[in-house]
Amino acid sequence: MAGLHFLLVPLVAQGHIIPMVDLARLLAGRGARVTVVTTPVNAARNRAVVESARRAGLDVEIAEIAFPGPGHGLPEGLENMDLLTEREHFQPFFQAAWSMDAPLEEYVRSLPRRPDCLIADSCNPWTAEVCARHGIPRLVLHCPSTYFLLAMHSLSKHGVHERVADELETFEVPDFPVPAVANKATFRGFFQWPGAEGFQRDVAEAEATADGLLFNTFRDIEGVFIDRYAAALGRKTWAIGPTCASGGLDADSRASRGNRPDVDASLFVSWLDARPPSSVLYISFGSLAHLPAKQVIELGRGLEASERPFVWAIKEANSNADVQAWLAEGFEERVKDRGLLVRGWAPQVTILSHPAVGGFLTHCGWNAALEAIAHGVPVLTWPNFSDQFSSERLLVDVLDVGVRSGVQVPAMFLPKEAEGVQVTSVGVGKAVAELMDEGPKGTARRARAKDLAAKAKAAMEEGGSSYADLTDMIHHVTVLGGKKGHEVDTTSARAMPSILH
Ligand code: UDP
Repeated sequence: MAGLHFLLVPLVAQGHIIPMVDLARLLAGRGARVTVVTTPVNAARNRAVVESARRAGLDVEIAEIAFPGPGHGLPEGLENMDLLTEREHFQPFFQAAWSMDAPLEEYVRSLPRRPDCLIADSCNPWTAEVCARHGIPRLVLHCPSTYFLLAMHSLSKHGVHERVADELETFEVPDFPVPAVANKATFRGFFQWPGAEGFQRDVAEAEATADGLLFNTFRDIEGVFIDRYAAALGRKTWAIGPTCASGGLDADSRASRGNRPDVDASLFVSWLDARPPSSVLYISFGSLAHLPAKQVIELGRGLEASERPFVWAIKEANSNADVQAWLAEGFEERVKDRGLLVRGWAPQVTILSHPAVGGFLTHCGWNAALEAIAHGVPVLTWPNFSDQFSSERLLVDVLDVGVRSGVQVPAMFLPKEAEGVQVTSVGVGKAVAELMDEGPKGTARRARAKDLAAKAKAAMEEGGSSYADLTDMIHHVTVLGGKKGHEVDTTSARAMPSILH
């Protein structure tokens, strides 16, 4: 182990950078030297956490490489998916991300010694050829759940998406360990929009040629999905999460995980300190999802009528004029004795780890799901797109730690007259009451959530399954290092002989 140097290359999106930086701290905690390679805007967002880890004695650093956005017609500084506001920037954004191979290669060439391993986000297949050219072993980190990965694998293997014409037509996910009736609108893989076929192909190829796969999950919540996915691919895999339970951050850097918060985190903690245990609902839709204005307003009315304390991370307060106009009518004043708003980036883990928080209304991003699990907080599920509907099913149907809000489809599939509203204020009120219920059902749900949190902690500690998987992965890299030195390929990743299988 001593002396291993890892390069970690996250996708430039919050839900991917944050767990990668956690992984950097985990590897450095085992004695490795770790460099997170990312672009200037993302480096600035994550520097506080990395500096805090360095102060704690970990050998972790950030290296900056340019984001080739301007070369693809994007404004300077648009380096993270959460900064994408124009639809027409979407495709160029990924084209720019795909061109990061040149600055990465330049960085690798500048290093005095070849790194022992590069861990790339599964959405960064452009790292494969750089690794092949320099003989660097390459692992892939998957950021969604293995429930989602296995479901997408089965749907693709059985050609279900091709067979089913209508977005809302239901089908059973084949070869799946639990019953799952789904539709295309809610069970859609990454890079499945028209024009993204090339991206999708590259992602699949880079997964197939990697020296192993890492999952941010743990056996107690996803054992069956982890095993079935690993068996389906016939690959070496490790479940090393939940990375959010890696600990070791001081209060300030924990509040800055992923970005500097748009509020004073210590004021929020004092506010929470004054509330009874498990009484507060935290509401967040992650870094990407924006609700339609009418839906935000219905949610606000439901929260107001619920008469429960809440903290609401409301991004739309910065971006949506109708929401701003509604807020200006006095919402905050009316709920000031029991509601706090975050207009922008919330210190999410600081909030979720506070004992006063007893429920999390979440969009079911996989990191949010893991953070709820790791902190023992039951969830009110409100998925928007991508893997979020899968995570809802895992949380509610498999793990039994959640209540559904009633959202059925991504907002774009709603009829126009619905104006984006899927959950009325009355529906919000009912769901919040069910989640925060102090009767036998709510109490049992809370106990299950606490039990999972204990299991998550145990998985990450010495003797736990994720700890053991990380140890095995490090050993694997050590072995690979010895072999790879002899097989530097100067042509292409595809010609790289697999030494694992
Ligand atoms: N996050 C945060 N503050 C916010 C919004 C998000 O700290 O105001 C963090 C959250 O804790 C999680 C990540 O950003 O670690 C978002 O990832 P997730 O998979 O939950 O959702 P996505 O943003 O990718 O939809």
